[in-house]
Amino acid sequence: MKIELHKLSVRDVISDYQDSAEEGVTSYKGKLNIRPKYQREFVYKPEQRDAVIETIKKGFPLNVMYWMKREDGGYEVLDGQQRTVSIGQYVNGDFSLNDRFFHNLTIEEQNKILDYELFIYFCEGTDKERIDWFTVINTYGEKVNDQEIRNAVYTGPWLSDAKLKFSKTNCVAYLLANDSGQLVSGSPIRQEYLETALSWINNGEVADHMAKHQHDQNADELWNYFQNVIAWVRNTFTNYRKEMANVNWGELYNQYKDSILDPNKLEAEIAELMQDEDVTKKSGIYPYVLTKQERCLSIREFTDKMKREAYERQKGICAKCKKHFEIEEMEADHITPWHEGGKTIPENCQMLCKQDNRTKSGK
Ligand SMILES: [Zn+2]
Repeated sequence: MKIELHKLSVRDVISDYQDSAEEGVTSYKGKLNIRPKYQREFVYKPEQRDAVIETIKKGFPLNVMYWMKREDGGYEVLDGQQRTVSIGQYVNGDFSLNDRFFHNLTIEEQNKILDYELFIYFCEGTDKERIDWFTVINTYGEKVNDQEIRNAVYTGPWLSDAKLKFSKTNCVAYLLANDSGQLVSGSPIRQEYLETALSWINNGEVADHMAKHQHDQNADELWNYFQNVIAWVRNTFTNYRKEMANVNWGELYNQYKDSILDPNKLEAEIAELMQDEDVTKKSGIYPYVLTKQERCLSIREFTDKMKREAYERQKGICAKCKKHFEIEEMEADHITPWHEGGKTIPENCQMLCKQDNRTKSGK
């Protein structure tokens, strides 16, 4: 891990400043990616923007910024995106301060801004070192999310192609996942579609997949996989419900893509569970009908009031071992289990000591 402090003038940092909207913002003679392509724009309030320019005009210090060195010799801004954009916009005449645009300033005032020195850490290291470091420095300033940090580390043709498909507004992945009902939540430009697809294809190990494919020429493998998952979901769960936007489809596809499933039978089961008021997590019904794991459903728990009433009825005696316990040492249990039709109602509540409850539920 190598971290070097550099002092660069505003003149150098914003030379050839280019803001191409969704195509990104670059400067430093094209070598600096201030905001990468298809990455969300942070909304900086006018007073924050003005404060940056005031600070520079007065010659006061700005907080240090962080740039990451890319393999191709260029840089990505990890912290300082908004400040750099504010400076670039002001010098380009995009906004005025106290009714004076940059071009209204005297040459002397202009030079004072252009000669102002920014303190920038350049950082180089292994993938893991850079991710760890960015995560730590990312606790203040204009926060970037985990996927944006990974995108700054694993740059290359694979990432460019992946972002074109998964991170652009109305990208192909977004259109596919939303045609006939949304199946992926979040927003492409916040990198949530890319992150979801990566998590699906590699069972949650997002950075690992990016590291392995960083130098691939394109992201076709990820895109083909994503299309297969979506097609499988549409064929398997034929009646759309909005809860389907919050299901980990990759996990289910990876495990059940080769199983023979009956969509009509699944739909009948889902419709019934949707009406069960003890099923508190409706999106969990989709994994449940395949895995049969009751924890997917977050079955309603007995309230403290029901527990106290049952405890008093039993006079503190565990219904199984018949020994006496304090209420804190006991847990509520469904007398008739949920999967046998037992409801979360006072009449179906009994208190068991913790040990007996855990033995009974097989936890
Ligand atoms: Zn007991």
